[in-house]
Amino acid sequence: MSDCLFCRIVSGAIPSKKIAEDDATFAFEDIAPRAPTHILIVPKQHVSTMADASDEALAGGLLLAAARIARDRGLESYRLVINNGEGAGQTVFHLHVHLMGGRSFSWPPG
Ligand code: 5GP
Ligand code: ZN
Repeated sequence: MSDCLFCRIVSGAIPSKKIAEDDATFAFEDIAPRAPTHILIVPKQHVSTMADASDEALAGGLLLAAARIARDRGLESYRLVINNGEGAGQTVFHLHVHLMGGRSFSWPPG
């Protein structure tokens, strides 16, 4: 989608600090990190929200890509977050997993 921020990051039209990439996913540093490690993992194909996701391989691939990045960076404890909808804090409507690590986290999240 040409007017989608994360589609434009995936295509390279908007620069990002790329962390990893595979056939279906693209990972890059969050522009406003909330933890020492804060990486976003997105599907290359545009999907607006988790609620819109229907492809099991796509959804599973996102989580496995996040876990691979965490492992590669030596993170033993980390948090994966998917905000679904404005009420949950979603601000960019291209599905993404937040990978956050390098600090402790409280539970439940606020
Ligand atoms: P959400 O609130 O939708 O779950 O997360 C969106 C995330 O995208 C936020 O953590 C925000 O800092 C990040 N973000 C917004 N605009 C940009 C951008 O232009 N580049 C990068 N790398 N991250 C962005
Ligand atoms: Zn998109």
